[in-house]
Amino acid sequence: MKRSVFRGGIHPTHGEDKSLTAGKSIVPYIPKTVKVSMKQGLGPNAVCVVKPGDHVEQGSLIGTSGHFLTACLHAPVTGTVINVSNDFCEINVESCLLPDTEQAYYKCLFDVSDISREEIIEKLETGGLVGMGGAGFPTHVKYKAKDPITHLLINAAECEPYLTCDEHMMLEQGMAILNGVLLLRKAAGAEHAIICMEDNKLHCKEALETLLDGNTEIEILVLPTRYPQGGEKQMIFAAMGVEIPSGKLPANVGAIVSNIQTAKAAADMVLGGMPSVSRCITVTGDVQDPKNYLVPLGTCIGELIAASGDVVSRENKVILGGPMTGRCIGDGLTAADVTECVSKVSGGLIVLSGKGLKESACIKCGACAEACPIGLQPAKIDAAIRKDRVDVCRTLNATECIACGCCSYVCPAKRELSFHTVTARDKVRMKMREEAAK
Ligand code: SF4
Ligand code: SF4
Repeated sequence: MKRSVFRGGIHPTHGEDKSLTAGKSIVPYIPKTVKVSMKQGLGPNAVCVVKPGDHVEQGSLIGTSGHFLTACLHAPVTGTVINVSNDFCEINVESCLLPDTEQAYYKCLFDVSDISREEIIEKLETGGLVGMGGAGFPTHVKYKAKDPITHLLINAAECEPYLTCDEHMMLEQGMAILNGVLLLRKAAGAEHAIICMEDNKLHCKEALETLLDGNTEIEILVLPTRYPQGGEKQMIFAAMGVEIPSGKLPANVGAIVSNIQTAKAAADMVLGGMPSVSRCITVTGDVQDPKNYLVPLGTCIGELIAASGDVVSRENKVILGGPMTGRCIGDGLTAADVTECVSKVSGGLIVLSGKGLKESACIKCGACAEACPIGLQPAKIDAAIRKDRVDVCRTLNATECIACGCCSYVCPAKRELSFHTVTARDKVRMKMREEAAK
């Protein structure tokens, strides 16, 4: 099979930032209350089916789906419902079991031949699994694809600076991940299952190969450390040597890509009977004691920052998600100011300190175009969308933007390029949909 390196991208100079949480085991954290967002992914809100005063068991249904892009939602803890709205469900925590590493599927590879493909997909659907790498797309929808799938690619690249929760999951919960990969391979009907990781994680490869102990059903592929190696298009190109044509999906070229935490959650769901109610998140950057936490969904991220000793300085920018693709939730914050809660797609919380984060005028250096893995011209799209020239953005192929953030990362003028290219992408797509509906 031809394996390739995608164009553009960046070699993050912040490789050392991953070392902030290196060698630190995942820390379980159970809060006193959880506030679970009814919106956990791409689709509209789930519909809350509990009311204040109800007693809920961990894993019981609290939100139903009325849309194919919305997954159902379960109580992350056992406790009493305090408050509900269209947007959230707040629960007082009486007890909470985080994934039980004493279970057999954390200790040995399982034979999945007795479980049918349909049974696996049904459990992924009733367990409310969504892509935990950040996309939030309901997993069962992806695995019901009609196109024949040859390759299941497991995204273990964790290519954004700072984030290490996937790396630590591979080191500490590798067997559950491998069992999840076997289940997802069967659900996909794929011949090949390949865990793709960057060459800065050779210790993870070694750990997983030890657990595989010669089993050849799962391949581990090492790719160059280069952001956005974990992008779907880039990973498929790197692993299969195939380009996804504009407007097409991975399934159209015979591939499904799932994140490593999605695979592990699939094992918890199918083999452990526990729906999607917890995840691992990296809390790092300029906090006193950066850590990876394993938490129930709905845990207040401010509490996790406090558990990490709070921010180093109030001269900061706080990013929810990775530093490249995440969302800035404010400047000058401390732990007490952060009220956002962990969702199924929260991979990180990064505190970036320092001055010099303000925009200045474009100096026409061309670095953004050079870094764009799609070959777009971010500076031109940025200039056009700031004047609301959606038509110009369309001619500049803004619809192809993958929101990777490479352009913003390299811009010496600190221009918020990816925010504007993504805005342009969405506006052009909306205009195209309006035109198609006429
Ligand atoms: S224009 Fe879009 S795809 Fe290109 S570098 Fe910027 S965010 Fe990434
Ligand atoms: S990288 Fe920044 S300064 Fe350079 S051309 Fe792009 S927008 Fe302008």
